[in-house]
Amino acid sequence: MIKRNTENLLNRLPAGIQIVAATKARNPEVIKEAIKAGIKIIGENYVQEAEAKYNVLGRVVQWHFIGHLQKNKVKRAVEIFDMIQTIDSFEIAQAIDKACSLKKKVMQVLIEVNSAREKEKFGLFPQDVCSFIEEARQLKNIKINGLMTMGPFLKDASQLRPYFKEARRLFERVKSLNLPGVQMCYLSMGMSDSYQVAVEEGANLIRIGTAIFGRRKT
Ligand SMILES: *Cc1c(COP(=O)(O)O)cnc(C)c1O
Repeated sequence: MIKRNTENLLNRLPAGIQIVAATKARNPEVIKEAIKAGIKIIGENYVQEAEAKYNVLGRVVQWHFIGHLQKNKVKRAVEIFDMIQTIDSFEIAQAIDKACSLKKKVMQVLIEVNSAREKEKFGLFPQDVCSFIEEARQLKNIKINGLMTMGPFLKDASQLRPYFKEARRLFERVKSLNLPGVQMCYLSMGMSDSYQVAVEEGANLIRIGTAIFGRRKT
């Protein structure tokens, strides 16, 4: 099932769109099946859970962090991940920068945008993103590579379209500023229920769990 799900997804996607397999609560064995079927990027939400899987799977894939990163986990996160998609404060950007400078590593990061401006959710409000990037781009050991958004929880994916549109507009705006050190390559949005709408609105990284692995039991 995982093999067929993954192959169907990969075959249906337009060129230039990459899948991040969202693997929270999935064990290494099922993740291996997805990798065999063509998955190249794993997205993990928790550092400790990622470490356990990383020790089994290693660097045969790229590792993206897609959860909310706590400051006390940054050092360990920097060991594993190739990209951190969820930068939403200068404090966390600085902590990553510092941990990376000790390791002589440059971390690719995406800025998380709270495109629906929901108070209880993580991510920067759209109006704060440009000034944030102006500041964060000064950090030498992180490389800003784009934006990520979750969007609100809505039953009907088409209702997410305005939020994806807003993230896209912002993405293009930052890109057009041509800020030194900033390379706007990735717009990460869309999940199992919403990736088609997200792709129509310009996503080129989609984060897929259920549509690959089936319903989560936990
Ligand atoms: C779980 C998760 C996904 C994937 O969700 P599905 O609906 O299972 O595809 C995408 N992004 C993030 C940040 C997640 O935590």
